[in-house]
Amino acid sequence: MSTRRTLLVAGAATAAGVAVPAPARATAPDRELRRILKEIDPVRIEAIVRRLVSFGTRHTLSSQDDPVRGIGAARDWILAELQRHAAASGGRMTVELQSFIQPVSPRIPAPTRITNVIATLRGSVTPERIYVVTGHYDSRVTDVMDAVKDAPGADDDASGVAVIMELARVLATRAPESTLVFAAVAGEEQGLYGSDHMAQRYRDAGADIQAMFSNDIVGTGDAHDGTRDDPRTVRLFVEGVPTSETTAEANTRRSVGGENDGPSRQLGRFVKDVEPAGMDVRVVWRRDRYLRGSDHISFLLRGYPAARFTEPRENFDHEHQDVRVENGIQYGDLPEFCDFAYIARVARVNATALWSLAQAPGTPKGVVVDTTQLTNATTLRWQVGTEPDLAGYEVVWRETTAPDWQHSLPVGKVGTVTVDLSKDNVFFGVRAVDTTGHRSPVAAPRPAG
Ligand SMILES: [Zn+2]
Repeated sequence: MSTRRTLLVAGAATAAGVAVPAPARATAPDRELRRILKEIDPVRIEAIVRRLVSFGTRHTLSSQDDPVRGIGAARDWILAELQRHAAASGGRMTVELQSFIQPVSPRIPAPTRITNVIATLRGSVTPERIYVVTGHYDSRVTDVMDAVKDAPGADDDASGVAVIMELARVLATRAPESTLVFAAVAGEEQGLYGSDHMAQRYRDAGADIQAMFSNDIVGTGDAHDGTRDDPRTVRLFVEGVPTSETTAEANTRRSVGGENDGPSRQLGRFVKDVEPAGMDVRVVWRRDRYLRGSDHISFLLRGYPAARFTEPRENFDHEHQDVRVENGIQYGDLPEFCDFAYIARVARVNATALWSLAQAPGTPKGVVVDTTQLTNATTLRWQVGTEPDLAGYEVVWRETTAPDWQHSLPVGKVGTVTVDLSKDNVFFGVRAVDTTGHRSPVAAPRPAG
């Protein structure tokens, strides 16, 4: 597109009439999404969690060929279930075991096969654009090297695996425009090894992953510690300064800011914008909690936007603990501490985010702000996308001290626009809109001079 536009905007505070306030929701839920949310079933989620617990332990170093106990039995059961869902997909969903040998590492005493179970639902319009959701099916007890004791891992992280398996079941019969990947990864407790391998395979293939979500410890809003149940909140951890930031990017950030505008922060704003009714996504501006991590870090390391869902308040007696009673206190990650209706609500948050991402145009690429000369106007440029239902773009901006976008300005299907507002005074972004009003996540511009 060679069309150039100059839009006169009198200033953020007096922009009414030209620019409009950024909408509270980026996208209204469509009929198909409402049906998807209805089909997510807490009874099936409970059955998945209890089945995963029934393998005794799913420790990464436990048996890989015992048909009843250990991580191998869990792997084979997850595979069979996902294959059953794929059979209902009309050929759109494929399921694979992605295996590799993890060499000796701090928590891997001998070379060990680690296997991710991955279901890929190919997009019907833009299959090259990919959104990934994971839970980890390995589990642990107090001693992270103990592969023998019962390690039920109901909350950590059968809950997250139940989310991805239920999403795979419900979405297998749909035809999202972009590709969705539902993965049960392993080796998380030993060092994020399964997701690390998976993310690197994608990186090596040049895969265009535009968002990744780890669901890890999403079992309950009730911490069972005397505090109030918080059944309608899920935390979403999103980093600020990108884990993969280059030296050049760091220099720009030190000069003109942007620590709050990385791709993961934009993803966090998007998820909050589309959160389903009855659930509050509490976005936390951190990569993860103190002393903790999860599989989203493997994707952040490769430069992919990624975030982690987790319950609002944890009970550490129920995570990474030998199952035992001590001084009348029950320790251990048992299914009795899970709330299956809560896990279903978290699955609905994921479904809404994934469906909204897959149906919207991709996040704009190559977005730059022109810095070739000193001027009080702002010229933005980007690559015009090729989606057949692409309607155009919106420029968004906010005060530098504001957390979220405050104004949006439709600019049409163009690849450049000049706005009469100083790039020195506000933060800008660009997002794409399709003909039915689905909006993409925002991309913040890099300087180009
Ligand atoms: Zn975990």
